[in-house]
Amino acid sequence: MESITNKVEGSILPDTKKVGSSNKNIERNHRILIIDDNEAIHNDFRAILESKDENAIDLGEEKNAIFGNQQIKEKLSNFEITSAFQGKEGLLKIQQALQEGHPYAMAFIDMRMPPGWDGLETIQKIWEEYPDLQVVICTAYSDYSWHEIVKKLGETEKLLILKKPFDNIEVYQLASALTEKWYLTQKARSKQEELEQIVKQRTELLEETNRQLTIALEEAEEADRAKSEFLANMSHEIRTPMSSVIGFSDVLAEEDLTENQKKYVELIRQSGKNLMQIINDILDFSKIKAGKFEIKMIECDLDQILSEVESIMGLDARNKGLEFKIIQKEKLPSQIYTDPTRLRQCFINLIGNSLKFTEKGHIYLIASLEYDNDNKPYIRFDVEDTGIGIKSENLESIFESFSQVDHGASRKYGGTGLGLAITKQLSNLLGGTISLTSQLGKGSVFTLTIPVGMDIKSKSSSAKYDTSKNST
Ligand code: ADP
Repeated sequence: MESITNKVEGSILPDTKKVGSSNKNIERNHRILIIDDNEAIHNDFRAILESKDENAIDLGEEKNAIFGNQQIKEKLSNFEITSAFQGKEGLLKIQQALQEGHPYAMAFIDMRMPPGWDGLETIQKIWEEYPDLQVVICTAYSDYSWHEIVKKLGETEKLLILKKPFDNIEVYQLASALTEKWYLTQKARSKQEELEQIVKQRTELLEETNRQLTIALEEAEEADRAKSEFLANMSHEIRTPMSSVIGFSDVLAEEDLTENQKKYVELIRQSGKNLMQIINDILDFSKIKAGKFEIKMIECDLDQILSEVESIMGLDARNKGLEFKIIQKEKLPSQIYTDPTRLRQCFINLIGNSLKFTEKGHIYLIASLEYDNDNKPYIRFDVEDTGIGIKSENLESIFESFSQVDHGASRKYGGTGLGLAITKQLSNLLGGTISLTSQLGKGSVFTLTIPVGMDIKSKSSSAKYDTSKNST
């Protein structure tokens, strides 16, 4: 499998240089269109806006106060005026300018232009083609109320009304302000487009990264499943010859052997059993991971399960000089709905650990009946020992696979670090939980809970769970 880092290459930040280069370079635009049926009006506008000579224009007393001479001179020399005498002609000029790539920034449009379109109709037609145009409508009469204008053209900030006869300064101010407004609007739009492009690129990149991660994750899961399947098959294949080794060493032990031979046969038998336990753990663990672990839920006798645990583990504990007891704190339901083989396996794992890690004192399996928040009964089993205990910083990781917290002890006692991981998976599959409290040097209590489950027993007596989702 290709590594994730190889696949997800480069930074997720977009290349801003590329974004910038695709951005339009917006320039100031002083092109103004005058649409008016009266030729004299055109001359007036030209006189105010087009003249290169500041002194030729009568801007009145206000000019210095408002703009200062230098500023006026610069602005005046920049405006570029085009004339149209009817609405239709104005529209044609707008279209032509757009085609040439030099659109107008604004237009002064007369309200009454017989025999053609009036001002409002002209604006309507122009905005259909070129909605960016800033417009000043010039009128001598109250042809339309503002309300009527809004009704025709819609609510807009691109339209201003100029009452005739107009003031030169006012015309000049409008031309300056609206051409600047056009420029700023274009700039803002271009900036927005640039930002949208960055966001788009970033989103695409993130989506691509996500896609690659999903593929990598699927591949990793598939590889993990394949590995677990391989392990499950291998463990299964090793079990068969191992059974023969153990079986025949049992047979051999019955033969007339010298003391040394007896010792060797016992060693073979014990090593075979240990190896078998390890193989069984690997088989269970890999089956859980591969999603092939079968749980058979049936109605079963809790007392019988506990007495089997007593006969399997009790003798070993007592042989080691430990007190071993199974304590029922109160009357427990005689019948429960669970998988007895797997429940037994949980006890054997937990008590087996206690046996390994306890040199003196006791091991108790204490059972009690409790109720959850929905008032459903469950059985709580505490496996309590007076063994070496576990450091508090290791309590969290202890249920993870292959985790052995005390390496010295593990070497001494053996084991794979799989027992608790399997027990946790099993308790989950049985609908229960597992937790732990421990004090270093004093002992540990592993708490397993499982539902009494009689209320769900009618559903199914045997189920194959997809355990791959639950595995750690
Ligand atoms: P192992 O096969 O190594 O026993 P487990 O998953 O059963 O694997 O246990 C993991 C580790 O947790 C053990 O190696 C040991 O360090 C610690 N451990 C488990 N049970 C006990 C216990 N009762 N007392 C002290 N340490 C324990």
